[in-house]
Amino acid sequence: MRTTAVIIGAGQAGLAASWWLSRRGVDHIVLERGEVANTWRRERWDSLTLLTPNWQSRLPGFGYEGDRPDAFRTRDETIAFIDAYASHVAAPLRTNCAVTAVRATSDGYEVQSSEGTWRCRAVVIATGAFNVSQVPAVSQAVAPEIFQLSTAQYRSPALLPDSGVLVVGAAASGAQLADEIQRTGRAVTLAVGEHVRAPRTYRGRDIQWWMDVTGLNDERYDQVENLVRARNLPSFQIAGYPDRRDIDLNALRELGVRIVGRVAGVRDGKAQISGSLRNVCELADLKMNRLLNVFDEWAIASGIGNEIEPTHRFAPTRVDASPPLSLDFAKSGIKTILWATGFRPDYSWLDVPVLDPKGNIIHDGGVVTDSPGLYLLGLPFLRRRKSSLIDGVGDDARDLTAHLVSHVGVRSAHAAVAIEAR
Ligand SMILES: Cc1cc2nc3c(=O)[nH]c(=O)nc-3n(C[C@H](O)[C@H](O)[C@H](O)COP(=O)(O)OP(=O)(O)OC[C@H]3O[C@@H](n4cnc5c(N)ncnc54)[C@H](O)[C@@H]3O)c2cc1C
Repeated sequence: MRTTAVIIGAGQAGLAASWWLSRRGVDHIVLERGEVANTWRRERWDSLTLLTPNWQSRLPGFGYEGDRPDAFRTRDETIAFIDAYASHVAAPLRTNCAVTAVRATSDGYEVQSSEGTWRCRAVVIATGAFNVSQVPAVSQAVAPEIFQLSTAQYRSPALLPDSGVLVVGAAASGAQLADEIQRTGRAVTLAVGEHVRAPRTYRGRDIQWWMDVTGLNDERYDQVENLVRARNLPSFQIAGYPDRRDIDLNALRELGVRIVGRVAGVRDGKAQISGSLRNVCELADLKMNRLLNVFDEWAIASGIGNEIEPTHRFAPTRVDASPPLSLDFAKSGIKTILWATGFRPDYSWLDVPVLDPKGNIIHDGGVVTDSPGLYLLGLPFLRRRKSSLIDGVGDDARDLTAHLVSHVGVRSAHAAVAIEAR
């Protein structure tokens, strides 16, 4: 089979790319190993709500039109939203079609899948940034009687043993699940390394409103000082709950969650805990205050300082005088460890030599320069701070499909008009 471009993956990124390629008159197909929005269906927990408010889900040609712009979608509502987008885009879609290999050919690429082989000029990899859980090697030293799982495997607290739980990692997922599990009566210990503290609401406005209006979400990949660091930062420690409550470490402690430092090792039924808790908390407080300063400065410069609630600061993170350096699983009643330690993408099917030693694709803002015609979408800070968000992938898809069009040399009248209209 032949087509001009193959898009791999039918999450928001693949669908946004399809929307732009259709507008630009580029013949293409979207190959999806499962269903549309597969990751939201199969790899997220039951109670998940988006961190981003409804208004902040602006996909190309599609946005929020309901009467609850400030509410947060549930997982099922998110699936319905992405499904509706697929219908809107009318993407040429093959579901239940897993891509098993991509190889370079003399005039483009060969894409092998469970449903046949396509030859094409260009490939857009939109397979997601969060495919494989990054569970640290120390997990292998944990005794078999302790139940271990990652956030991608977690569905609900009801499926956990009725005993203490160690949640490792305090980005958005770890903090949310510590909150959820503690509320079931299980004693939760949260192991905290470097994290990004942020309030849900500041001066009466949502954190994402601030990130949007100040232009921080639009900051480009070629403007940040340390791109590698920016791409690897943990997510904001926030949740999208109807009561808009904070889930920072102070709030979790108030709920009864025990806060300890990073898990550095496991030996003889005990976790060795790093002594860095105070430092990482002070750093997180400092960085949050710097971010709030940026918001305040923007409010003054834009003249709305008097129209919103007054400026204020949050209480510093409380840390015990002598946080523990060891955690005995048996004595603490811990029978479950939930690893909320992040993800990495899976390119095991890619037979093009473009990976760095860590298994990431080498690219310049999504353009895989060592393999012309190969593109990436949906990774953190791919082209902008918002790149991995529902709200951010559309702008990246517009930029990269423009590059793709010039690469394959599509010259239809429709394509030319669409490019000029950008
Ligand atoms: C826990 C969590 C919460 C998040 N919350 C938010 C939020 O509140 N707001 C927000 O804007 N963003 C959020 N994100 C970030 C982002 O929006 C999601 O990760 C989103 O799923 C990314 O969309 P995507 O299209 O890039 O990738 P995915 O949704 O992962 O889509 C990739 C698709 O590719 C398919 N695929 C993979 N490999 C193959 C293959 N070999 N062959 C064929 N198909 C393949 C997969 O089945 C999948 O359908 C969250 C992320 C996580 C992990």
